[in-house]
Amino acid sequence: MNVTRVSEHIWSVHTWLVFPITVWLVKEEDGVTLVDAGIPKMAKGINNAIRSLGIGPLKRIVLTHGHSDHVGAVKRLLQEWPGVPVYAHRLEIPFATGEAPYPGRRKAAQYLPGGLPRPLPEGAGGRLEPIGGLNPYWTPGHAPGHVVYHHVQDDVLLAGDLFNAKRGRLRFPLFTFDKAQTLESSLIVRELKPAHMEVCHGGPVRRPADRLDDYLRAHARHAGAGAQA
Ligand SMILES: [Zn+2]
Ligand SMILES: [Zn+2]
Repeated sequence: MNVTRVSEHIWSVHTWLVFPITVWLVKEEDGVTLVDAGIPKMAKGINNAIRSLGIGPLKRIVLTHGHSDHVGAVKRLLQEWPGVPVYAHRLEIPFATGEAPYPGRRKAAQYLPGGLPRPLPEGAGGRLEPIGGLNPYWTPGHAPGHVVYHHVQDDVLLAGDLFNAKRGRLRFPLFTFDKAQTLESSLIVRELKPAHMEVCHGGPVRRPADRLDDYLRAHARHAGAGAQA
């Protein structure tokens, strides 16, 4: 398990399973927020990193979405840190807990126990409230309740599967059902203009807003193509 310092308050923990898988530890005043939970074998590396960095305890787990490669270590982490709340977007929870099949899939699959994930707090008009040092933004497309997290103080965007990345370039995320909506959601990068972006599958991207026009041009065929694209 590799641990890399991303910024003053953020470390990435990453491993490899056919493709790279990354989760993030965010140092808060009261302990640590874990963004995403990778695959089951990452639990040990995540725990070791929290302990060796001396930034614990684990206070909360926040998910970008509920796909199996983003929630895998939740169960083992909760054995170590009982009662730690797990948050996801309200719209993602039924798919992650197996109440409904993800769009485009025939069968429902339970990736998290029913009743475990709590909805991310929402304010007026459904706007997501800050959680720890992170501002969450709803970015549907890759998954119905996909969320990215902006660490304002460090100006880092933790983008989950909104993009993949390779050699600092933006790539279209794999296993994406609604491609047009994913492109629309990618505009969040233009709005926030983060100095640094991290994705779950691929390396970091500096100044992703500068890369967005090329990305949109390369994938323009998906724009407005609807759910079946
Ligand atoms: Zn995914
Ligand atoms: Zn993924």
